[in-house]
Amino acid sequence: MRPSFVLYATLAVATTASAQAPPLRPAPPAAPVLIKAGRLIDGRSDAPQSGVGILIEGDRIKAVGPLAQVQGQARGARVIDLSQMTVLPGFIDAHTHLLLQGDPTAESYNEQLLYESTPYRAILAARNARIALEHGFTAIRDLETEGAMYADVDVRRAVDRGEIPGPRIFAATRAMAPTGMYPIVSDNWELELPHGVQPVDGVEGARLAVRQQVAHGADWIKYYSDRRYYFGPAPDSVLHSWVNFTDDEARALVDEAHRLGRKVAAHAIGSDGIAAALRAGVNTIEHGDGMTDSLLEVLVAKGVYWVPTVTVAYYVAGPRGGPWGPMVEHQRRAFTRGVKKGVRIVLGTDVGGFPWTELNQAKEFEYYVQYGMTPMQAIKSGTSLAAELLGQRDLGVVAAGAYADLVAVAGDPLKDVAELSRVRFVMKGGVTYLSP
Ligand SMILES: [Zn+2]
Repeated sequence: MRPSFVLYATLAVATTASAQAPPLRPAPPAAPVLIKAGRLIDGRSDAPQSGVGILIEGDRIKAVGPLAQVQGQARGARVIDLSQMTVLPGFIDAHTHLLLQGDPTAESYNEQLLYESTPYRAILAARNARIALEHGFTAIRDLETEGAMYADVDVRRAVDRGEIPGPRIFAATRAMAPTGMYPIVSDNWELELPHGVQPVDGVEGARLAVRQQVAHGADWIKYYSDRRYYFGPAPDSVLHSWVNFTDDEARALVDEAHRLGRKVAAHAIGSDGIAAALRAGVNTIEHGDGMTDSLLEVLVAKGVYWVPTVTVAYYVAGPRGGPWGPMVEHQRRAFTRGVKKGVRIVLGTDVGGFPWTELNQAKEFEYYVQYGMTPMQAIKSGTSLAAELLGQRDLGVVAAGAYADLVAVAGDPLKDVAELSRVRFVMKGGVTYLSP
């Protein structure tokens, strides 16, 4: 059983009162709220604090500090008692697919694009948005709709208007790859098949596609830098790939996005694809299984973020076979070296690549600790560092002025990081969605 939502309880009461009433949307409470936090991990500090008061007014945090001190400013406030819990900033997943329900194989991917309408997929996306919020993710960067056009922008609008519960959504819309380099492809040239991305060719085509996606509401631009992954001969066993766009095309795409105030995420798995994306000037590398020491150093030098998506790597390795199993091991070693080199590794899961209903996204925190981060580093990678990637100063931290996006867990995640998969309290923008 899933915990029930406060929002829905409120809705039920409202509709009983008057059948004619417009839908009640969640708004931050008029009165201030005081949260008593037994322990606070604020997303930025290196150590937790005990006995903390968090004062919330509207959708933002007004004050954070020792409980006795904050209590003095909190007259008339409604109290939420989390004194037996650890409070953290709401989690941020920097790589999701709301419009996808798992694609461990080509068949499972094609099935969704061929036999499910975009409205049906959008209904499931609304459900997925709620699951993300239930799991403590109060913001996500949704990195393309996989053939569902601009439906992520619609889900974002419904959440922003309070029509459905969900995290803050930073949407990438369709993503891009050159003609013939992304599914669905078929030997039957007589069929007109759905495209998993917007097919984009040539420098002018790249600029036009960026403009179209921004015009339709893209917060981010995503493109596929590579495909066809294979390991080079021992002893170096570099993970190689075929690069999709010419350097001129990729540079035009990134330049146009930056010109329009959008950042760029590149799917890049092999070392060749990663190198090409870095040459083009992207802001984030997605997956990055084929990272080498020299590429990790370029990431550090250029301040590019790496979003590794480990959870999906484990999920698809078995069903896909081939290089996908060894790729997991290659990425694990690169990750450990990346942590030591100070690479900005941001939490991203690729949920949607695995079904939202099967695995909790917060599993990703556990992999990062297994791979060499401290629990505190892992928490920052899924809170304050992810907010930095998004360019959102008011997210990912529990501090005065920030949005009141908070979660709480019963135990101590610094002792057992798996606690992060068991959130008991979720607040977004001052509205409580899950209560202990
Ligand atoms: Zn993805």
